[in-house]
Amino acid sequence: MILITGATGQLGYATIESLISKGIPANEIAALVRDEKKASNLINLGIEIRIGHYNDYNSLINASRGIERLLLISSSEMVDRLIQHKNVINAAKENDVKHIIYTGIDIKSFERTAIPHVSQIHKDTADYLKGTGMTYTLLNNTLYADLIALFSGDNVLESGIFFPAGTGKNPFVSRKEMGEAAAVVLTTTGHENKEYAITANTAHSFSEIAEILSDIAGKEVKYLQPDVDTYIKELTKAGIPKESASFLAGFGTAIGQNEFDTDRSDLEILLGRKPMELREFLSSIYGK
Ligand code: NDP
Repeated sequence: MILITGATGQLGYATIESLISKGIPANEIAALVRDEKKASNLINLGIEIRIGHYNDYNSLINASRGIERLLLISSSEMVDRLIQHKNVINAAKENDVKHIIYTGIDIKSFERTAIPHVSQIHKDTADYLKGTGMTYTLLNNTLYADLIALFSGDNVLESGIFFPAGTGKNPFVSRKEMGEAAAVVLTTTGHENKEYAITANTAHSFSEIAEILSDIAGKEVKYLQPDVDTYIKELTKAGIPKESASFLAGFGTAIGQNEFDTDRSDLEILLGRKPMELREFLSSIYGK
């Protein structure tokens, strides 16, 4: 039996869809869900729902009973994430789960990063998991291609990309393909105690993204490169809380510093084919 945490979220659901499309019977998949009201799509698929909250150790003990492989999708909450992840790992260990797969981050340095509040937790969780002696696999995810729309701003085809990422490049991967990579690791062997870089073969800068969008739209889409202060000022003027604007700006700075740019990609090997080109992904979003 496989347990997927974060199953009501986008990556969790993408993983479950991929497991089903690989022919894994729904009754061999369980979903950790904290709010059953959000799980109707999973229930419709015939997935077993196990109620659990990362902060509630007993619920995790119940949820991970009889599980062989567990995909721990990192928490989306910004407080107590390490405690939450440790709770899942400890409960799995107590239940003798054979293999834990954790979705972390592929970043060059945990010490010199513009987003330590986002990335350090992944290193701490990975270190903790390795320290338990359990069989693990780390899926070190780059940034979702799906975030490009959020980073670029509203009405991007009309207004241009407004994001402080300079000339930095990022090997974006769609959530869907990340879910597929997780499903491969959950259903095949040879991944024990390995770390994978879930990154595209090619990294793209936002000026390259603007060129692709220009081709898709059939008109020029500019890449406006605001500095961080201007970016935060403009977003707050548009009603976005300063904290959220600063959070997004941190990602711009990290991309600008090429923090995710890497020579390593294990995605093609895991998928058994070339990952989707960014152009194709952007066409699916903007080419309508
Ligand atoms: P989502 O926000 O769509 O999903 C997060 C999932 O985690 C939801 O199912 C949510 O449950 C669940 N969850 C959060 N807190 C708890 C908790 N305390 N107890 C139990 N379940 C909990 O995120 P994604 O699927 O898009 O991404 C997965 C993770 O990847 C994120 O949580 C984040 O850590 C990380 N991430 C990675 C990014 C990247 O670019 N690589 C970008 C953004 C996030 P519920 O539905 O009830 O809220």
